[in-house]
Amino acid sequence: MLLRQQNAGRHESRRVHPRGDARGHLRAQELVAEVFEQRETFEWRGLGEVPDSALRIASATRKFDAERRYSTVYRAVPDNKACECGAVLRGLRRPAECRAFGTACTPEMPLGSCMVSSEGACRAHYTYGRFRTDRMTEVAA
Ligand code: SF4
Repeated sequence: MLLRQQNAGRHESRRVHPRGDARGHLRAQELVAEVFEQRETFEWRGLGEVPDSALRIASATRKFDAERRYSTVYRAVPDNKACECGAVLRGLRRPAECRAFGTACTPEMPLGSCMVSSEGACRAHYTYGRFRTDRMTEVAA
């Protein structure tokens, strides 16, 4: 589907899973609702506190909750001051626009969460996109 769109010069968001519908996977939703409950708020690295944005183990299944079982205490770890992950995650900056990209910050020595995991925006751009000079790069410039 993506290749057909690319060849036709189209860029559309489409659902291609034949059994999917607008309500999603109802059985999976039931199981998630049974095991988890909504957190009032959660601090995401690079984004800060976002209300109703995360789950935790529900009271009914609390014996499996490591946070409760081991009485963990959350301690925030501030992002490196040079890191612009928040802006990258919000689409305000491109990874290569960060001054640390590919110099002080690499997959081997990441400064921010966007460079840590393989699906992070900075890591993906470092791995696959940093030498690209195709239409995507030109459009963004
Ligand atoms: S390149 Fe590194 S320092 Fe810059 S935004 Fe990405 S993760 Fe943060």
